[in-house]
Formats: sequence, structure tokens, C-alpha cells
Amino acid sequence: MWAAQHGLTVAAAVPGTLTHAPLALLPARFPRAAFEQAQALAAPFGALTAAVAADGAFLRETLARAGAEDAFTGRLLELHAATEGLPGRGGGVTLGLLRSDYMVDAPSGALLQVEVNTIAASFAHLSQLTTALHAHLTRWAGLQSRFPAAALPANGAATGLAAGLAQAWRLAGRPHALVLVVVQPGERNVFDQQGLQCALRDTHGIRTLRRSLAQLAVEGRLEGGRLLVGEAEVAVVYYRAGYTPDDYPSEACWAGRELLERSSAIACPSLAWHLAGAKKVQQQLARPGCVERFLAPAQAAAVRAAFAGLWPLDGPEADAVVAMALQHPERYVLKPQREGGGNNLYGEEAAARLRRGDGLGAFILMQRILPAVQPALFLRQGVVSSGPALCELGIYSVYLAAGNEVLQNAPTGHLLRTKTADSDEGGVAAGFAVLDSPCLEPF
Ligand code: ADP
Ligand code: MG
Repeated sequence: MWAAQHGLTVAAAVPGTLTHAPLALLPARFPRAAFEQAQALAAPFGALTAAVAADGAFLRETLARAGAEDAFTGRLLELHAATEGLPGRGGGVTLGLLRSDYMVDAPSGALLQVEVNTIAASFAHLSQLTTALHAHLTRWAGLQSRFPAAALPANGAATGLAAGLAQAWRLAGRPHALVLVVVQPGERNVFDQQGLQCALRDTHGIRTLRRSLAQLAVEGRLEGGRLLVGEAEVAVVYYRAGYTPDDYPSEACWAGRELLERSSAIACPSLAWHLAGAKKVQQQLARPGCVERFLAPAQAAAVRAAFAGLWPLDGPEADAVVAMALQHPERYVLKPQREGGGNNLYGEEAAARLRRGDGLGAFILMQRILPAVQPALFLRQGVVSSGPALCELGIYSVYLAAGNEVLQNAPTGHLLRTKTADSDEGGVAAGFAVLDSPCLEPF
């Protein structure tokens, strides 16, 4: 009931119907120190992503092999090369809406980064609502002794992301222009997206437009670099699509993406930021001395402390890395250059893929993080179930720069996803996890 009233909803399988988002009924325990550490890492990871994205040579070199072995990565690299130097792109404004994901590794006690999402980081709105729902439930069910209000951190995830989009829109200086939300046809996480669009409209007085890449190929055009969709001018392009090959079923979709990339609209993210979020880049940054090239020593050390073990599957070390992984496949995750969940390989599946051998340059190997298990109550499509669960924390942040001046680089809020302890993947949209909120311990 609360979910329906407040829009904590997702589209259901039957078109035109909706259901509540997959939820945990009560907050989950999460170590306070790790939560605060993750928040403190938002600014260093923002600075790192900006520095990496600005280094076209580093991106090209790092992703060359993955691009050769994976057609999707290769195509993004081609588009990057073709558009990188175009004058006037984004009007010199950089906007990143990031979500850096972490798990606390129980054996070591360390907060370790799963990945940083530089494109289409989702669930800010539904997560903010989940925090409000849990505050409501714990208060009205009389559970304050188990979940004191002071242990439930405030969550301005979506409010902050919308404010970032609005600030970038203002920098564009085109009051009649709107924010274009690039969407997947048939998107089910539509209420999460609409939450940001409503905030833009109601709080900031900014109009938005939703279009798929295929629609943009037909309706979009450039006039002196300005992006028009029909008669509407676009100031900011906000991608909630375009990160998976499934978003490009036809050449028209690539044409749509290219049109956006060639325009002077502010892209969130730019293609360089999109590429900077590649798993291959994450692995390269973890190499000795690499992250230190991009950040001041204190920031580099903070970021490095959150790196899990990451190994390349190309280059001279590849054979040794494969041999190491095959000894104990359960200790690793095999990751291709993909986003959106459901793409990673674990255990025996990973081992089989490693033995097959071909095309491994498009993968990286990562230490498997082992979070502590705790009981949870899951609510999915109106049905409650319980079981052992583990948590993944995401920290949203806004990075905004005009030219070389960084105007904002700070966290806005969080996402806690909880999944059954026996499931490997963690996506909410992909059906593995539920939205949750942290109860920070000690209180
Ligand atoms: P995607 O870009 O598809 O979201 P992720 O790297 O975030 O890929 O992986 C998807 C999910 O798999 C994560 O949300 C997490 O639950 C799980 N996962 C990923 N990497 C690890 C890891 N190193 N250890 C344990 N679980 C992991
Ligand atoms: Mg992820």
C-alpha cells in the first residue's frame, strides 16, 4: 500500500500494469565505519573517473585488446575516436552521475569496490523511497529499539542527482531547452526514472523528454551542433540506455547514439566517462602505480585500499592468471565488458570459460568478495519470504565541472541491495536482489 501510494513501484510483466519494487521489509545491519568509508570515497572516485576520461590515450590503450575481442566495446571505441576531438561538445561542461558499489568482505573486514557505474546508474529514486518506507515501518511497528532512527542514515540520492542534472542544465544557459532521457523501449524500471524527471519538473522547472536511440535516429537532428528532437532543443542528454549491445538492435540505434555524441548538448555521461567505467579500466587502475598516475597520493591510497584483487586475462600474465583461477574457481568472478547484471561467470561456469580460452582479452578476473550473511525478509510481488542474505552498498555522487573548474564532487545518497546468500549476481532489475536500507552498527 505504502509503495503504491509513494511510487515505490516497477512496471509489471503485463503491459500497463505495475507492482511494488522488490523490497526488504526491514533494514539490514551494515557496519557504520564501512558506510562512512564508502561515502568518503565518492570524491576520490569522482576525481579518478574524470581524470581517466580526460586521458583518451589511456582509454584507447587500456581497452584496445578488449575492443578487438568484443565487438560492442570495439564499436564504442570507434565512436570515441571519431568524436573525441570535435569542438563544442558539451559546451565544456562535464556531468557524471555515478554510483560506486561495494561489499564488505567478511574474511578481511575490508570494504571492497565491486565496480563504479558511470552510465545509467539506477535506483536512486526507489532507494530514497525505500529509506523513507523503512523509517515509516520501523517507527509504526514499534521497532525503534532494534532500528533506532539515528542508525538509519538520511538518503537524498535522487534529490541530489536531479539537482546535479538541473545545475548542468542551468550551465547550458538555454532556458527553453530540455533534458532528454535516453531510455530502453519497454523499460520496467520506469518509475525510478520518472522520479528524477518529476523532480526536474516540479523542483527545478525543467521539462524532460523520453526517447529511445531508435526514435532519436528518426526524430533527432543537429543544427549548428545544437541537438533538436522534433522542435525541442536539448540542453542535457541523460542516458538510461546505451550501455548494453541489446540497446543497439539496428544500425539506426548506433546512428542515434552518434547524433547525440556529435552534438553540443551536455552528455551524462560523455562517451569518455562511459568508457572509463569499463571493467577493463577498473582492472588496469588496480595495477601497481596506475591509479597513482591520476590522483594525489592521499586520494590514491584511499581508493587503492578499496580495490579487490583484479587480474588481466590478456598480455604476458594471462596464462598464469588462468592457472591460478583454475586452482580455485570459487574464489574468483570472471567478468566480461558488460553492464546491467547477469553477465558475470562464477565457479564451474567461469572455469569452463577459462579452459575454452578464446577471446579472454575481453574479460577480467576479480577476487570474489564474501560478505557476511544475515537473515532478511524479502517482499516480491506481494509475497514475503525469508532467508540468509548478503548486502551490497552503492554510493551515488554528482561530479560537475565547467571547463577545468570542478563545481561539485560529492555523494548524494545510497542504495543498499540485499540478495539471497546463494545467488551470485546482485541486480534488482535483473531479479536477483531487493531494495533495502542500512541500519548502521554500532548504533
Ligand atoms: P554489472 O555491471 O553487470 O552490474 P557487476 O560487476 O556490478 O556487473 O556485477 C554484478 C553483481 O555480481 C554485483 O552486483 C554483485 O552482486 C556480484 N559481484 C560482482 N563482482 C563481485 C565480486 N568480485 N565478488 C562477489 N560478488 C560480485
Ligand atoms: Mg553492477
